[in-house]
Amino acid sequence: MKKDFNIETKCVQAGYTPENGEPRQIPIIQSTTFKYATSEDMGKLFDLEAEGYFYTRLQNPTSDRVAAKICALEGGTAAMLTSSGQAANFFSVFNIASAGDHVVASSALYGGTYNLFAVTMKRMNIDFTFLPPTATREELNEAFRDNTKAVFGETITNPSLDVLDIPLWAEVAHEHGVPLIIDNTFATPVNCRPFEWGADIVTHSTTKYMDGHGTQVGGCIVDSGKFDWMAHADKFPGLCTPDESYHGITYAEKFGIEGAYITKATAQLMRDFGATAAPQNAFLLNMGLESLHVRMKKHCENGMAVAEYLKGHDKISRVNYPGLPDSKYAELVKKMLPNGTCGVVSFGIRGGREAAETFMKNLKLAAIETHVADARTCCLHPANTTHRQMNEAELEAAGIGPDLIRFSCGLEAAEDLIADIEQALEYVK
Ligand SMILES: *Cc1c(COP(=O)(O)O)cnc(C)c1O
Repeated sequence: MKKDFNIETKCVQAGYTPENGEPRQIPIIQSTTFKYATSEDMGKLFDLEAEGYFYTRLQNPTSDRVAAKICALEGGTAAMLTSSGQAANFFSVFNIASAGDHVVASSALYGGTYNLFAVTMKRMNIDFTFLPPTATREELNEAFRDNTKAVFGETITNPSLDVLDIPLWAEVAHEHGVPLIIDNTFATPVNCRPFEWGADIVTHSTTKYMDGHGTQVGGCIVDSGKFDWMAHADKFPGLCTPDESYHGITYAEKFGIEGAYITKATAQLMRDFGATAAPQNAFLLNMGLESLHVRMKKHCENGMAVAEYLKGHDKISRVNYPGLPDSKYAELVKKMLPNGTCGVVSFGIRGGREAAETFMKNLKLAAIETHVADARTCCLHPANTTHRQMNEAELEAAGIGPDLIRFSCGLEAAEDLIADIEQALEYVK
């Protein structure tokens, strides 16, 4: 597909162009395996000498077409689907960092990502330094070590709704010879394309807006094809020296700057960990992507309307919504997210934890769910659920207090959502 089509057109049509007489909709290739005439033919696939499918744990045509759409949306050169956003974030880092290495990350992260980094990957002897998303250039610089292999952050953070200064974080990462990985789940490529601001790798939980209807759990990793691994070969031996498990292939040589990272992630990590997207799920994800541009507009409109309403309410102690004109991120939003931010608003209720509980259980349209970024409005109390593994200090560092509510505006009428909030606030004394 032409690179210069508008994002709306890419949402609908990128990734799959049927030939004469072929299905108009992406076919679901519900097959674990693929047939070959000779073992030699298949051997070439195993050696990465030829392109093709042989086992769905590594690659499947349905999933690849949907990955190609997300790749086009982000403006990358290669992409892969994963079975979840967690798998995408794990692979994105583990593809270039091993035991003994170090990563610089924003402290305002999705709870699952924070746990993955601070607990599980720490047990793999990969060390993380967490910095606030508002860290200065000097603070960022000081966090780097000789063994730092990557920098990680979220465009709009879940659930604290901070906005990362991607150009600054990218610049500092590049000065230290490492890539910037950005989880772009909340903004989606409709509202922000991190590669245009210097990021090197983008990840997604496609479970959220991309799917948008709460039908599948999935993830995606996209490579910008811009990070020169060979220029920093000493830091990235996995990409720049022969892989003995693939007959001595050197990914950065054989697949070049545009293909090395995703090929290695597919060939090694998917082969060994098997966090594969199911073809049926890839199909459902694509149905969501076809309307992503239409839905994001409405999610953002509703987010703004709800944020503005809450802002003027005397029972509300604070409102985080980066789209508000008086947000501390207004300048950054104008630059990186000019068309909108997201439909998620987080806010504190006067009266703390108890008031938050009273409010939430009296909502009628907004359901209490772990989910977020869905067609149906939902809400969550992070301190009690997704972030309950954090202590008070960690909660503060992640921008979450005991009274914080994450409210994910769906696609209903803004007026009805506001009326629902209003009646539930009546119960808060
Ligand atoms: C939900 C989420 C994840 C994890 O994705 P799953 O699909 O639930 O595994 C990662 N990052 C962000 C920003 C998320 O919102």
